[in-house]
Amino acid sequence: MSNGDILVIGSMNMDLVVQTGRYPDKGETIIGKDFDQIPGGKGANQALAVGKLGGSVSFIGACGNDNFGDELLSSLKTGGVNVDNVFRVEENTGIAAITVEEDGDNRIIVVSGANSKLSSSMIDKLEDEIKEVEAILLQMEIPLKTIVHTIELAHQYQTTVILDPAPAQELPEDIYEQIDYLLPNEGELELLLQDYNLTTTQEQVDQLLDWGVGTILLTRGKNGIILYTKGRQEHYKAIEVEAVDTTAAGDSFAGAFAYGLQQGWSEEKAIKFGNQVAALVVTKLGAQSSLPTIEDVEEFKQ
Ligand code: ADP
Repeated sequence: MSNGDILVIGSMNMDLVVQTGRYPDKGETIIGKDFDQIPGGKGANQALAVGKLGGSVSFIGACGNDNFGDELLSSLKTGGVNVDNVFRVEENTGIAAITVEEDGDNRIIVVSGANSKLSSSMIDKLEDEIKEVEAILLQMEIPLKTIVHTIELAHQYQTTVILDPAPAQELPEDIYEQIDYLLPNEGELELLLQDYNLTTTQEQVDQLLDWGVGTILLTRGKNGIILYTKGRQEHYKAIEVEAVDTTAAGDSFAGAFAYGLQQGWSEEKAIKFGNQVAALVVTKLGAQSSLPTIEDVEEFKQ
């Protein structure tokens, strides 16, 4: 890890993707069409998004001492991500069993495995390095306790904290004031506040801002982004493209936004860049396979 890195702390999974004409009924066996093994996990996707753009990025996560672990690490390394501090634990590497039906419908079962072993004490071992980084980027596929602990540690060192709350679950109210950027989509925003009976987006956003979140970037698919901060609201249009597969749109936006901040850009410039990167991603199939390099983005802009 180096000074000024974007540090992504999160999940790494091997996606096991079966293409099938239809789903089998209970007790039935059918012959599927195709099978692919694709590196994934929100943490790894976001780290690779930064790495492929050419940002200086380190990843902290946990995987097993197995072949899937080896393959995930090598995919991250190839994309320019520093994986020196990934923990190898006595548990299988996380997987996502994904079936995709002919009409594009999918069903996903995630087995967290090694991801569930990433603990606060593991994060503490890297405290000296954590205080030197530019920003920490987190998602919610690792234990909640570890997420909360990491945010508190980063905040103590005034390191910028970016949280993509996916998959969303409630967070303690007092953690919000330690989050600089929160990047929910509309469904996640609702889930974060499900016990509070707040029906409109505006009410939900106002509650989080009252609890002290710095800035909320609400991602709205093809409707782009709305930035909310106390007393200010700005809309950023998505780039119009022919969407082929929206997998990893949110992950690529988060990675590209963090990359923009690392370059010293304004929030506005980093958001517009994030929209370009994410639009490019939705024109391609797959998650990590669709992440662009900075050259791809430059070409896309013209
Ligand atoms: P998530 O994948 O987390 O649900 P969104 O679907 O909101 O996130 O997408 C994140 C960002 O990706 C959007 O804010 C936008 O910039 C871009 N994006 C997503 N879908 C499209 C689309 N159909 N066309 C253009 N840009 C898109």
